[in-house]
Amino acid sequence: MTITDSTATSAADAWTADRIRAADRAYVIHSWSTQGTVNAVPIAGGEGSWFWDYEGNRYLDFQSQLVNMNLGHQHPRIVEAIKEQADRMCYIGPGYAERSRAELAELMAQLTPGDLRMTFFTTGGAAANENAVRLARHVTGRRKIITRYRSYHGATAGAIALTGDPRRWYAEPNDFGVVRMFDPYTYRCPVGHPDPCPVCSGGPHLEEILQYENPETVAAVVLETVTGTNGLIYPPEGYLKSIREVCDKYGILLILDEVMAGFGRTGEWFACNHWDVTPDILITAKGLNSGYVPLGAMTVNERISEWLMTNKFWGGLTYAGHPLACASGVASIKAMQEENVLDNARAMGRRLDAGLRRLAEKHPSIGDIRGRGLFYGLELVKNRDTREPLVPFNPAGPAAAPMNAVIAAAKKQGLYLSANNNVIRLTPPLVIKPEEIDFALEALDNALVHAD
Ligand code: PLP
Repeated sequence: MTITDSTATSAADAWTADRIRAADRAYVIHSWSTQGTVNAVPIAGGEGSWFWDYEGNRYLDFQSQLVNMNLGHQHPRIVEAIKEQADRMCYIGPGYAERSRAELAELMAQLTPGDLRMTFFTTGGAAANENAVRLARHVTGRRKIITRYRSYHGATAGAIALTGDPRRWYAEPNDFGVVRMFDPYTYRCPVGHPDPCPVCSGGPHLEEILQYENPETVAAVVLETVTGTNGLIYPPEGYLKSIREVCDKYGILLILDEVMAGFGRTGEWFACNHWDVTPDILITAKGLNSGYVPLGAMTVNERISEWLMTNKFWGGLTYAGHPLACASGVASIKAMQEENVLDNARAMGRRLDAGLRRLAEKHPSIGDIRGRGLFYGLELVKNRDTREPLVPFNPAGPAAAPMNAVIAAAKKQGLYLSANNNVIRLTPPLVIKPEEIDFALEALDNALVHAD
């Protein structure tokens, strides 16, 4: 089946797949890519957990694109809400009170844990993180920020400075106030995971760093509650609580970045709910509105909300609280509530987990399986005993070949996957169905022979 653009009035006008591919190659700069090597497949449409190209090849979206389309493609309620809002009012400046903006902010206050209350809406995760750090510095009167090496917080100047992964190298030297700590990566602990481990238990590692940095100069600790891009690393029990305690002891704000992990991805509304920890500032984006219109959010606790009543907020964006984005956020949250999406995420997560453990009996390349809800990482190794990774950290060129082979073999069977270093991310839409999970497991089973 070949699909063409039905709006074309003549053959010359038609945006065929070839024309789209050619224009894309000539004129579009793709993220994080050497443009000459990009061969982007023209995509014709999508629905639910699937999308398809112009030749009619269908792909099960086991990534939810960039882990943002939590309700899958073309969810009718979100599409309808965007249309309705567009009919009512496409844009009004952030200085006015507007219905979808007010409604979404109220929903955020209701859904987020503890005493989180007021929200500043942005155009995505990076801008929300940047505003949170600026606000934290203003509220505390301190300058330094502590983040972690395996973190990704976004690609704008301030957010890439917070980021620990190698993408920041190309933006350096950058923000000199940022200090980094290690991640609680129990499978590959940077200090060999002694018992008890100071790094993986959180507080002791942070406290040691603070000794040298002077806690009175530190405004905030910024953490991904669950490290997403760089390996799906879940904090061990007690980790977040102990970080929270150290922050409280020294008057340091805790900012949790749940751009990827939030909004049902881990089977709870927010990942921090699993460990009963409330940050001073919560950062969300992606699943907040399933990515239908660019949107991010910084939600602050009661104390900072009160502070903002008498102190100026030194931040602003033309598109802060864009009505189309907020309307899509309201619709996405209501659909999640009314369609029991969290229950589905948990049930499908259990099905996926059981299937992955069956695959591990067969495939020696599976070193570790970690996840909750539908936020899973599959860590591939050359040798399960030594845990030697299938590809080295930050692989380039031929070194990346074995992981690329697995991803390509999955794609050939209609399963869209993605990986970073030696970890495959398994993050399908939260509305995925049992037979789709089974389809993915079968394709993965076939693809993993390239890694064994
Ligand atoms: N924070 C985390 C944890 C992310 O995963 C991302 C994007 O992947 C960001 C921040 C940046 O979000 P955005 O690309 O919307 O700026």
